[in-house]
Amino acid sequence: MIDISLADFLSLPDSAKVAYIKDFGILYAQQFSRRDLDAYCELADAARDLHKVPAGRELMSSLLRHRMVLNFFVQPSSRTFMSFNTAQAFLGMSRMSVRDINISSMSKGESLVDSVRTFISYVDMVVMRHSDENAAAAAFWTAMKAHRRIEIHGQERPVPIISGGSGTKQHPTQSLLDVYTLQKSFKERGGIDGKTIMLVGDLARGRTVRSLAYLMKNYKDVKLYFAAPEKYQMLDDILQFLDDNQVKWKKIGSISEGIEQADAVYMTRIQDEYDELAAGTHEKASDDFVFTMEHLGRMKSDACLLHPLPKRDEIEIEVDYVNDRRVMYWRQERNGMWMRVAIIARLFGLDGRILSAQQELCG
Ligand code: ASP
Repeated sequence: MIDISLADFLSLPDSAKVAYIKDFGILYAQQFSRRDLDAYCELADAARDLHKVPAGRELMSSLLRHRMVLNFFVQPSSRTFMSFNTAQAFLGMSRMSVRDINISSMSKGESLVDSVRTFISYVDMVVMRHSDENAAAAAFWTAMKAHRRIEIHGQERPVPIISGGSGTKQHPTQSLLDVYTLQKSFKERGGIDGKTIMLVGDLARGRTVRSLAYLMKNYKDVKLYFAAPEKYQMLDDILQFLDDNQVKWKKIGSISEGIEQADAVYMTRIQDEYDELAAGTHEKASDDFVFTMEHLGRMKSDACLLHPLPKRDEIEIEVDYVNDRRVMYWRQERNGMWMRVAIIARLFGLDGRILSAQQELCG
């Protein structure tokens, strides 16, 4: 099913890797089309609706009762780990987790691919977060190469691998929930097409903003503002991708510079876990890139403020508890859970069941 060596696979550009992934896993934001994005959002809404009625909850929890999943999260995580766990529980899956490489056989020198090959002999899906940007791709290659197959609608399929964060490069499921949040926010305003989105903070190492930028190729006339100190500005690989896909972008030197034009402001923290800092210390966000109540006052009345979380000092604390519908990040967090139900359901070909149950039980 995959005819090249691991080394050759890993050395391919992402665009070529995507051709192998098809719908056997979720690794790169570039793998999604507009049709996929709309389908995921529709499915997330349906899962949310179904969960409100007892018969819907019962049905959902029966869908994957016979499936086992491993959540292999060897880089810190709160939301992604918990929302995947909750989504899997809603779908009735049995769950296992590994959260520390030191208590797995990798500490005895076992390679990642051997470990993954072991995992997939027990489970029907692996969700993984790893500091190495290539780890999920290596796991995917292993799943394609290994002989174990799972059956989905009469077809033999490799065990699906989902990236829950790959080093500084990709966080595809976060970008799906971000699109879901944006789409919901702009529901009455024609959706994401034509909107101006400002991405703020550590854009160089922020995998969430990188993945979200990739997704923007699917929408018409979107404009991206990149607000970051020079050393954290968006990298050339993304800028080139946006140019190739006719997505307009502009680098700016402060939040203030774009706040009145932005339909969405997406904040991020400085990803200083990749720096050599003394334990427990963090780099402070510089003033031009801290979102304040004053910015909220200047933001469009129907704009929204997002953050993938965790946050530190890049949003003024008063913004957290202000009663303002535009402050979206706590709802964005919850959207993640529904989007992850949709992601898993789609991988297992359950879209039709969920959509028709929604019609039947919630219509
Ligand atoms: N939770 C997000 C991530 O894993 C954002 C962050 O950590 O800053 O990338």
